[in-house]
Amino acid sequence: MEPSTSTRKQFTINDFEIGRPLGRGKFGRVYLARLKENNFIVALKVIFKSEIEEEGLEHQLRREVEIQAHLQHPNILRLYNYFYDDTRVYLILEYAPGGELYKDLQRNEKLDQQRAATIIEELSDALTYCHENKVIHRDIKPENLLLGLRGEVKISDFGWSVHTPSLRRKTMCGTLDYLPPEMIQGKIYNETVDLWCIGVLCYELLVGKPPFESSTSNETCRRILQVDFKFPSSVPAGAQDLISKLLKYHPLERLSLAQVLKHPWVREHSRRVLSPCVQMAS
Ligand code: ATP
Ligand code: MG
Repeated sequence: MEPSTSTRKQFTINDFEIGRPLGRGKFGRVYLARLKENNFIVALKVIFKSEIEEEGLEHQLRREVEIQAHLQHPNILRLYNYFYDDTRVYLILEYAPGGELYKDLQRNEKLDQQRAATIIEELSDALTYCHENKVIHRDIKPENLLLGLRGEVKISDFGWSVHTPSLRRKTMCGTLDYLPPEMIQGKIYNETVDLWCIGVLCYELLVGKPPFESSTSNETCRRILQVDFKFPSSVPAGAQDLISKLLKYHPLERLSLAQVLKHPWVREHSRRVLSPCVQMAS
């Protein structure tokens, strides 16, 4: 990979002291690491080139890196820089000390209104910024949301993100639960796919499972295409109103991000605090 800007410092693995493993994904192993020159703590994602090449994913990785490196927002996981050697690519990422939102959901089954509304506000603000920069994430779901020191959301994993508009058809892998109707049908879509996903996420945060969850993929698809979901009575009316206005079959009928940010349920329950952006020196 070529560096995107020639002014970026060229790091090597010797610039870091490697700490405990934070987790592993399909291609990456992620370690806590410390930049020796100033003790700055980061998450270092190590990806084997051979594994990426075997699957023909060089382009996707390059796009993920290029997109994420240019986004700077308190609720988007920073990608500070990257480097590589003969066999591996290393991504220098912001460390998210709160871990995965997914784990919190598993532990508690569901979140209270305050946490859910705060996450929806943080996410909507981050996606407003993405859309202004003509990036759609397309893959908003709890597995791709990490948490900062104060529990604030950090969107990670731009592996599926694209520049708008797009006709790219997502290769179906993993869960279908967050896919909007137009992506299931392989239609042209735009940034409103992220609004659908916010609706699905808001539901999952408050209910403990996504709205169209079924025992088979066919059934999930059918339910998504018919927007066939119900609220348990435990979901507060204000949240039901918000979710119903996001889970609209027709993309243009979905609330906009600005409307989500102004929605009465979000305004009443969100306790968002803005943390300062931390820079990695040098
Ligand atoms: P893939 O998208 O390739 O399937 P993944 O998204 O499942 O991978 P990675 O992004 O490689 O996984 O990360 C693996 C795990 O490491 C995450 O699930 C998370 O628990 C942890 N992790 C990753 N990045 C960070 C980070 N910046 N801070 C803290 N923990 C992280
Ligand atoms: Mg991931």
